[in-house]
Amino acid sequence: MPLSPADETRTLLAPLGVPAPRVSAGDLVVRSPIDGAEIGRVAEADAEGVARAVAAAEAAFLKWRCVPAPRRGELVRLFGEELRAAKADLGCLITLECGKILSEGLGEVQEMIDVCDFAVGLSRQLYGLTIASERPEHRMSELWRPLGVVGVVSAFNFPVAVWAWNAALALVCGNAVVWKPSEKTPLTALAVQSLFERAAARFPDAPEGLSQLLIGGAAVGEALVDDARVALVSATGSTAMGRKVGPRLAARFARALLELGGNNAAIVRPTADLDLTLRALAFSAMGTAGQRCTTLRRLFVHDDVYEPLLRRLKAAYSSVSIGDPRAEGVLVGPLIDARAFDGMQATLAKLRSMGAIVHGGEPVEVARAPGGFYARPALVEMNTQTGPMLDETFAPILYVMRVADLDEAIELNNAVAQGLSSSIFTNDLREAETFLSERGSDCGIANVNIGPSGAEIGGAFGGEKETGGGRESGSDCWKAYMRRVTSTVNYGRGLPLAQGVRFDL
Ligand code: NAD
Repeated sequence: MPLSPADETRTLLAPLGVPAPRVSAGDLVVRSPIDGAEIGRVAEADAEGVARAVAAAEAAFLKWRCVPAPRRGELVRLFGEELRAAKADLGCLITLECGKILSEGLGEVQEMIDVCDFAVGLSRQLYGLTIASERPEHRMSELWRPLGVVGVVSAFNFPVAVWAWNAALALVCGNAVVWKPSEKTPLTALAVQSLFERAAARFPDAPEGLSQLLIGGAAVGEALVDDARVALVSATGSTAMGRKVGPRLAARFARALLELGGNNAAIVRPTADLDLTLRALAFSAMGTAGQRCTTLRRLFVHDDVYEPLLRRLKAAYSSVSIGDPRAEGVLVGPLIDARAFDGMQATLAKLRSMGAIVHGGEPVEVARAPGGFYARPALVEMNTQTGPMLDETFAPILYVMRVADLDEAIELNNAVAQGLSSSIFTNDLREAETFLSERGSDCGIANVNIGPSGAEIGGAFGGEKETGGGRESGSDCWKAYMRRVTSTVNYGRGLPLAQGVRFDL
């Protein structure tokens, strides 16, 4: 019999470097979504705590910015080593605290390791351009300089990987980082902070206070957002949160990197390989219990394959194993809390009242998990894209619609306020390329023959419209954590002005 989540959490925290007193006092009660039982109590930061953390980060930044970037990469390499050593424990703690299945908990740690490796390479590749000057004996170039203190606000569903995407890059770019994790997942954040401190202790060039952690809810996040010393805030969470954070940052001309809600679609065409499509859809729609920003929520299926695909989807939905996410074979764990469960049930009730056909979605009882909120993923047949289908309900609900025409399917894909991820399933080259073209998907992520969820760290991650427009992780996203200096050097004796302007004294 597995340990209770509370007992198992206790066995993991010490090896991860989190002392027992740190998680046994405070007003913020932490519960495992597996059974709803308390797994810790932590103290929240107050306004002075936020100010102190930012001041410490700023002091660290002033030293860190002068450490050569490849040396900064060495600290991130050491942190990657700590993550490798702690992968099993941290992966399990992620499962205990946010309820994703164990292979996904481990996958989240792997994603952190991957982004550390990426950032180490990047630390030798923070390239600027040289630009042809129009003036003789002048040289123009671009220099990239660190920003200062970078704030990171993260969501419960990727409790630690999102911080790593931001922090690994921000650190090699020469910044200090202040992190405000989700109030639902402070234990994994404490563990990661302690692993980072272990790495920093092994690296003499790391100034004290380079990475700061602030536990708390929206008020703590707001204090961080409003602190004039924080140059950039990377905020991941709901569009509602982004609507508050974005204007506050704009009001003080700070930089914002917003990674907000998604409402992701897939299009299935007649030539699609249905075996592959079914597996991709099942993972994208039901994986992580529908609690990924990239979760598949809307499905537009061509008439020719609608019936067979729906039949197979229904079979997959009614047979998928739901339960304790630590158990072998379980694919769908709990929703994060009662609010998420109630939100799912309210959406399904509304859909039924609108005449939509709902399959599944009912509560599921799981042995020894009395306080957990488990539900069978729901498939909802829709005639038109309307009502809750236009919004993100952060739960496993997949809307399915018949659509014959590719242009119409693309129009429907694009006809929502969010613009994160999208997919097409087809073996027709013209259809695939049309979907990826300028008249295709309007999302930040557009895939062919894989589902919308499960991104790799090498690409830029993020979405358009109400998803916030931010990009993070791979490609050239590092530029968001630096300021660009355009520099022109005159190595001649004359002073020719640009555009032929004369100003002779
Ligand atoms: P949430 O918006 O409730 O909270 C996210 C974070 O923002 C938390 O740390 C919270 O304390 C903080 N916060 C809330 N209000 C704030 C405010 N006014 N000022 C400063 N901070 C504030 O989101 P959640 O329930 O934790 O996560 C689910 C949501 O996150 C979904 O909408 C999902 O799509 C989205 N998400 C997006 C991405 C992405 O990359 N686009 C990734 C993961 C999750």
